[in-house]
Amino acid sequence: MPAEKRVKYILVTGGVISGVGKGIISSSLGVLLKNNGYKVTAIKIDPYLNIDAGTFSPYEHGEVFVLDDGGEVDLDLGNYERFLDIRLTRDNNITTGKMFKHVMEKERRGDYCGKTVQMIPHLTDAIVDWVERVAKIPVDGTNEQPDVCIIELGGTIGDIEGMTYLSAFERFQRPTLKNHLMNVHVSLILHPNATGEPKTKPMQNSVRHLRAAGLVPDLLICRSTEKLDPHLREKISRFGMMDLEQVVGVHDVSNIYKVPLLLQDQGVLEAIKHRLCLTEVCEDLKKDLKFNMTHWSHLSDLCDAFQQVVNIALVGKYVKIADAYASVNKALSHAAIHAKRKLKITYVDSELLENKPGFEEQSAAAWNMVKAADGIIVPGGFDIRGVEGMIKAAEYCRKNNVPYLGVCLGMQVAAVEFARNVLGIKGANSTEFNSELHEDQQIVIDMPEHNVEENGLGGTMRLGRRSTVFLTDDCILHRLYGAHTVEERHRHRYEVNPRVVPQMARKGFLFVGMGVDEQNTDIWNIKKRTDSSAELMQMADQAEIDLLHKIDDLCQRGGDGVTRPAVRMEMFEMKDHPYFVGAQFHPEYLSHPLTPSPPFFGLLLAATGQLTSYFSGSRSPALQVVAEEGSLLDGLQKSSSSTSGDLVGEMLDKLKINGNATPGTQRLASFH
Ligand code: GLN
Repeated sequence: MPAEKRVKYILVTGGVISGVGKGIISSSLGVLLKNNGYKVTAIKIDPYLNIDAGTFSPYEHGEVFVLDDGGEVDLDLGNYERFLDIRLTRDNNITTGKMFKHVMEKERRGDYCGKTVQMIPHLTDAIVDWVERVAKIPVDGTNEQPDVCIIELGGTIGDIEGMTYLSAFERFQRPTLKNHLMNVHVSLILHPNATGEPKTKPMQNSVRHLRAAGLVPDLLICRSTEKLDPHLREKISRFGMMDLEQVVGVHDVSNIYKVPLLLQDQGVLEAIKHRLCLTEVCEDLKKDLKFNMTHWSHLSDLCDAFQQVVNIALVGKYVKIADAYASVNKALSHAAIHAKRKLKITYVDSELLENKPGFEEQSAAAWNMVKAADGIIVPGGFDIRGVEGMIKAAEYCRKNNVPYLGVCLGMQVAAVEFARNVLGIKGANSTEFNSELHEDQQIVIDMPEHNVEENGLGGTMRLGRRSTVFLTDDCILHRLYGAHTVEERHRHRYEVNPRVVPQMARKGFLFVGMGVDEQNTDIWNIKKRTDSSAELMQMADQAEIDLLHKIDDLCQRGGDGVTRPAVRMEMFEMKDHPYFVGAQFHPEYLSHPLTPSPPFFGLLLAATGQLTSYFSGSRSPALQVVAEEGSLLDGLQKSSSSTSGDLVGEMLDKLKINGNATPGTQRLASFH
């Protein structure tokens, strides 16, 4: 039997301060490897005591990212998935809380045979075992084990919280394991105004701390605003006791896709291959790669190529910290590339749209921002604050034919608005915001399923990847997805009440996609689906029954339609509106720069007046204007002998993202 292939590790640590782009650099190291034929996975270590990110306020850590298996994790896992085109599991996010729980459960089971359980070796062993187990999980849609696992240690060197992890990885300094782990240290060069020159002392200290913890840096990545000066590089290498080649500069760049290219230009791939003794990837395999560094370079050029601006207003309540909507921001920017526009996101505090007395000026300014936008997105959220403002934003878009995308809460508020203002249900609301509602006013209701897991406050939601089935092909969302069934990630407790849905449908609020009544938590096992699922599938397939009848029928099935709905309202679109759609799931989690999320792409197309031409397959005239941009010409001439025709189109073609492709289908196809 051949010896089991061992996964090699790259441990990325940070120095001086956090927030200098360690996550992007970790992802970029992965891109370099993956686009050269290696299989890559990633683990994020968050040394806090929380079990997972589920209970975090977005103000503290930014958004909570959700995985296929329902894991609520740090947003860096979103970066890994997007950069590396992989699907991770909840175990790919280690927290100290999770590790303590794991060790304590073992202790209670008697697994330590009466021994004193200590940080070293028990916790450190548990960490390494966990990493070794998780690193082997295939993450790219094949059944193959990764070659390299990038491990990002959150926080900075010197934090008490990170010590145990450094001790755990110290074992890889043993001679027998020396080729198995590479240390990459990301540190900041300071530019204090008072001195006028860059200062490297804090960086030297962080390298010293790392060495003191028993880890020798193999690569020192210097983050700075300006390009790393050669003299400074030499100084850093001398003071850090490193070879010049081990010191790499990553300065601020116009878009994040440039970071892997910066690393490539400085020989980082060769350094990794050498340090970890990676075997060469055969040329044939490299040729078959879906995405290589040339594609990557085109992608980064495209990000800066468009001058025509599309302005999307994001109406939410966590607008003071951009990371609170990290995946939504990314999904919008992916969609903007494909819609060939430069994206401007205007963040609007939804509370200000409520026109409260005393805030007249701010409210007027907020409304002006909404009115100036080409399209509006209301993303997910919890709790009542700002909800009435979101409802007003939905009303504005519905009445004024402004493109609208409602995600999760954004869909629920659109439904409430419609019930109040079109169906005339006074006081209509979600039971999340008013538990005293009369039955007829309950437009969005608490779901029966979420109490299945009795985990306290954490883990009480409908989470992770679930199926949505289209009831008709004849709708915008189906055309955008190009698929009959859609798999997307969820994170919610409430849903639109099936009892009001037939009534809404008659007035044009059409639930074109529904989900199933899942009694089990094993979301992967299709066979275990309940009867409702079979009925939904069957009904969805019957082309001869019209949509309104299907909606009527499905909303009456199973249970009483209130406490046990058989179907779940997943996707709606408004009849006779250019683009007014909503999804109960979070499409932003699965957006990828190559395959933008279909509902986001639709929003951007509608906001730029290209939706109809996209569907009819004709090219938008705007393309010709963009094609004349110099930077694009340069980019293309470098990579292609052809200079004729629609240059942006050609560039997109090189990325296999031809104007008529259906992003959703491509994305799903790569994982089924
Ligand atoms: N608060 C709503 C619910 O729990 C929406 C959740 C969300 O937007 N993620 O259903």
